[in-house]
Amino acid sequence: MASPPPAVTAEVERILPDAVGVAQTRERWILKRGRALTDSEIALARRIGVQEPERVRISTVQNFRTPEPKFGGPNPSICAITSGHGIQVNSLCPRQRHILAHELTHVTQFERLGMLEFEREFLIQMILVGSTRAPLETQARENETLGD
Ligand SMILES: [Zn+2]
Repeated sequence: MASPPPAVTAEVERILPDAVGVAQTRERWILKRGRALTDSEIALARRIGVQEPERVRISTVQNFRTPEPKFGGPNPSICAITSGHGIQVNSLCPRQRHILAHELTHVTQFERLGMLEFEREFLIQMILVGSTRAPLETQARENETLGD
């Protein structure tokens, strides 16, 4: 999205360092503890356009917890989070291959933009149009059926 309003740019730049820090910490954790992709998952990743599928790691959780104490506790509406080449998936969510295809699309976006630009662009899109219309999300949703 080109040239957001100055107030949005200022807000994004204010929260960006924290967002990048959280994403980098999450990616490091997943890359250390997650599993590599299977052969069929590597094939899917290549079909979606991932440049380095052998770098991808997946860690599985049962329910994400929201960070804010007042919303604390299991949050079944979050099915996956991707940071760089690290994918964390909620194993309780249905349609795991669709989720994987969606998250691998985010990996291609990280590869194309880099961590800093992805987080900046993601925040701008969330503020301006929300997750249902954010281009980074619509592209990922369009690729979900590639997991079939
Ligand atoms: Zn997504």
